[in-house]
Amino acid sequence: MKPEDLVRPEILALSAYAVAPAAGMVKLDAMENPYRLPPPLRQELAARLAEVELNRYPEPNPAALRELIVRKMRVPPGMDVLLGNGSDDLIQIITLALARPGAAMMYPSPTFLMYSMNATFCAMRAVPVPLRDDFSFDADAFIARLRAERPALVFLAYPNNPTGVLYPRADVRRVIEAAPGLVVLDEAYHVFAGETFMDELPRFDNLVVLRTVSKLGLAGIRLGYLAGRPQWLAQLNKVRQVYNVNVLTEAVARLVLERLDVLEAQAAEIRDERERLGTALRAIDGVTVFPSRANFFLVRVHDAERTDQRLRRQGVLVRNLHPALANCLRITVGTPDENRILLNALREAI
Ligand SMILES: *Cc1c(COP(=O)(O)O)cnc(C)c1O
Repeated sequence: MKPEDLVRPEILALSAYAVAPAAGMVKLDAMENPYRLPPPLRQELAARLAEVELNRYPEPNPAALRELIVRKMRVPPGMDVLLGNGSDDLIQIITLALARPGAAMMYPSPTFLMYSMNATFCAMRAVPVPLRDDFSFDADAFIARLRAERPALVFLAYPNNPTGVLYPRADVRRVIEAAPGLVVLDEAYHVFAGETFMDELPRFDNLVVLRTVSKLGLAGIRLGYLAGRPQWLAQLNKVRQVYNVNVLTEAVARLVLERLDVLEAQAAEIRDERERLGTALRAIDGVTVFPSRANFFLVRVHDAERTDQRLRRQGVLVRNLHPALANCLRITVGTPDENRILLNALREAI
């Protein structure tokens, strides 16, 4: 017996999500916060984790952590959050729940790969709508497609990954108003964008806001949250794996999110560094830099494959987005030292 005889053809056609080995590299490929927690907080964390009862199952969708997130992240009154094993988990939960036979999922393209992958997993019809050549959002074209395709589900990354572009607020509002289904606003980069629709949740009954603590500095613990009306969350909650947030993740989040100011101060440094890095990248001949409101830059070079390989040889890891985006590299904003190494290596490579 061969797997090829039994596995669904659309799964056979996929490639597994590839993550490059990063040992010893200046790691600028995954939009991680380059800073660790301050040593006193790490000590406190160690003591807290020593008390965790690893022999017990976690509390499903734990109430104390949800309350903390609601308070710290300014989730409006009357709204709640659903927790996920990263926001990837929540994308899957939403897609699974809405994948009625024939239902469509729509998103601007290029965007975060997990939307289309989950459409495939759940046999939803994917409708990618191209962005303009400069990766700005053509709201009129998108709304025209909404009316034609009537998708049950719309994903908008705000700001977008891998482009870094933040769509105009008014355009996003128009999409939410025109959408005949649920709109998931993916705010993975909200601390870097300084914009959010969290406060507008009460205005729209078809809007949910997806967030993650990954880009904030806790990528390793895998925690995402979906903010929205309890009526939506109650349905989605049925699809959630019962113990999707483990006891260690819960304990870390409960301690560190109480000290959100620490992570927000790191994010402020990264935002400052983004401005410096953007200016330096723009000054390199042969590099086109797209405007970014996230913690990374999308850049176009003459030959991304060669540039990527030369950067790797110099110990710098970025993301080559081929084939989705020809000759584009995505570069995460690192520490000032890391960015200096990157800039030198890039000048050399070009
Ligand atoms: C990184 C990213 C996510 C995934 O976040 P996790 O919580 O780490 O799974 C979701 N959406 C977008 C747009 C991202 O860039």
